Amino acid sequence: MNASAAETSVEGGADLPGRRPTPTVLVGGVPIGSRHPVAVQSMTNTDTADADATALQVVALAHAGSELVRITVNNDAAAAAVPEIVRKVRGLGVGVPIVGDFHYNGHRLLTEHPAMARALDKYRINPGNVGTKRRDANFGTIARVAIEEGKPIRIGVNWGSLDQDLLTRLMDENARSLEPHDAREVMISAMLESAVRSAELAEETGLPHDRIILSAKVSGVQDLVDVYRRLAARCDHPLHLGLTEAGMGTRGIVASAAALAILLQEGIGDTIRVSLTPRPGGERTEEVRVAQEILQSLGLRAFAPQVSACPGCGRTTSTFFQRMAEEIATYLADRMPEWRERYPGVEELRVAVMGCVVNGPGESRHADIGISLPGTFEEPVAPVYVDGALRTTLRGEGLVGEFVGILEEYVAARYGVARQGMG
Ligand code: SF4
Repeated sequence: MNASAAETSVEGGADLPGRRPTPTVLVGGVPIGSRHPVAVQSMTNTDTADADATALQVVALAHAGSELVRITVNNDAAAAAVPEIVRKVRGLGVGVPIVGDFHYNGHRLLTEHPAMARALDKYRINPGNVGTKRRDANFGTIARVAIEEGKPIRIGVNWGSLDQDLLTRLMDENARSLEPHDAREVMISAMLESAVRSAELAEETGLPHDRIILSAKVSGVQDLVDVYRRLAARCDHPLHLGLTEAGMGTRGIVASAAALAILLQEGIGDTIRVSLTPRPGGERTEEVRVAQEILQSLGLRAFAPQVSACPGCGRTTSTFFQRMAEEIATYLADRMPEWRERYPGVEELRVAVMGCVVNGPGESRHADIGISLPGTFEEPVAPVYVDGALRTTLRGEGLVGEFVGILEEYVAARYGVARQGMG
């Protein structure tokens, strides 16, 4: 599959292979569901009341490849800034759907700021955070605004803010039962109940079935897998996946990849977000790249050429091949904005940069284009393979530049022809 989420037609079409069947929910211009590629989402961390900063971050996330961007709408100043943010983003030529994230006061903000309600492409509601005494009434108010404005909603349950009345009721019932379950089981049941019951309430209020997306996020990998398997079995709404509070750096990336890969492999999940805690001064767009890498590693989407590089070992005593692998990866990333326009399909290109003759030639032959560098004590030559066949042998100082030249020729010849063929 090599399509952006927005490229696939909303009408007709079959479920993509292996996906759990769902209706299609249209968010802005982006169709979400089993007939469409799994979409990548992200969320801003700017103060939404700062329209300039928020619009710029929405644009940065969209340019990085985020196909939906969520912004916090937490108070009147944030709500008042939303129409301006949307105007600025569209003014910069970016059409990414913008989703409002509401907690506690969404019913009030959405009714008191109609321009905000109109400007957003979707509302995210946490049923655990819509009030206590007037929970159903407040939730119904949000659903009615969505109906009037023709917007979809995501009902996003989170175990950190679970409906406490519901959890207490289920805990009490469990305590009275003859065979009580453990606390984890009751918590999962409460999350499922909250998500499914809220979706039913939205539909009873009049929101069409195909305007509802569900999520039920937890921070443990095994818990997330359990929750989503059961949620997927209980309803046919499209599901948004994400490990909440995944954490920072390697821990967050690995935990998110582990959890999401299991579910995506089972056909569960129609949109994903990787909730990484950025390092101080770190880039917010990292979460988008990680989400793309997860989908591309699973073979579900293709976003950018992949570089296979061996880990190196005692046979490579210099760091030359590590630097070359990095230089090639950087070169590909730098060329992608132009290549994407000129050479459709280039995101599926596979490049190999290998450290010695043990696996180098074999791995290079499996890639579209690959180079096998000389290991210690090997003859100082680097065979280059193109489409599985030995193309040339490079040697000397300038071999990185020569390899890049061969790479450019290959891309132009292979993907340029495809473009001409498309007219
Ligand atoms: S390809 Fe060669 S250098 Fe790379 S890990 Fe294998 S044996 Fe070591």
